[in-house]
Amino acid sequence: RRAEAELRQAQDELIQAAKLAVLGQMAAGINHELNQPLAAIRAYAENARVFLDRGRSEAANGNLAQIVELTARMAEISAQLKQFSRKSGDSLTAVSAQASFGYALRLYRSRLTEARVEVIQDWPVEDVWVHADLVRLEQVLVNLIGNALQAMSETPAPRLELSIVEENGWVRLGVRDHGPGIAASHLGRVFEPFFTTKATGKGLGLGLSISARIVDDLGGRLEASNAADGGARFSVTLRASGAANPPTAARLSQTGALSLCKENRHA
Ligand code: ADP
Repeated sequence: RRAEAELRQAQDELIQAAKLAVLGQMAAGINHELNQPLAAIRAYAENARVFLDRGRSEAANGNLAQIVELTARMAEISAQLKQFSRKSGDSLTAVSAQASFGYALRLYRSRLTEARVEVIQDWPVEDVWVHADLVRLEQVLVNLIGNALQAMSETPAPRLELSIVEENGWVRLGVRDHGPGIAASHLGRVFEPFFTTKATGKGLGLGLSISARIVDDLGGRLEASNAADGGARFSVTLRASGAANPPTAARLSQTGALSLCKENRHA
């Protein structure tokens, strides 16, 4: 039993380490995300001083309002990172599938814009609730989206298709890309720890094995396949959570990243 407990702890630490590695990979994007508003704040502040010197207090006031808005945006980014890097709790709650995708997309916002990735969100307008842990589910989606973006780095018109389908008490979250897909001989191996086809420094081969373990812990399953017309498709199937479960903590605003994406919602 002690060995089992130790193994469990080691696995938990591995999950945490992998999460930090993902954060490391995204550091450049995050840097950009914070530097942009920072530069804007500086410009607004400098101009406000000029306006004040000239007695144009109304114009200065306008600049201050912009500054307030920009700092709120920065605080939001920072709060989200804090949320992502914390260790998850053990308790499973009702988590909005759309909000989980929203969180994951936000972390990739600048990368998606820079690589001109078209993001299709195929899901109902109403929140679909899954029985999960927001942090862990987000970690899985961040891994899947990160892989999809890496796979499409050479794709001329990169398109990321995200979907949510609820069926018979289960919810399927799909992440489909238009990259080269997974070689048939690799399909059975992608969930093995340390299996990677990426160059040194580009991947450790842990993302999918850890994601599969997380989804398994959540009582669901993670599957990989190739789409008939090319590209890889990953699906996370989790138990649906009745709306009877008050989901306030997991709900979050879907502004920001989502507004960048092409929407394809259905009622
Ligand atoms: P890593 O990304 O570090 O290689 P993963 O466990 O996330 O580790 O992925 C393992 C392997 O699965 C990748 O090296 C790649 O060969 C394959 N793979 C994962 N996602 C995709 C994808 N979207 N398209 C094609 N191959 C993929």
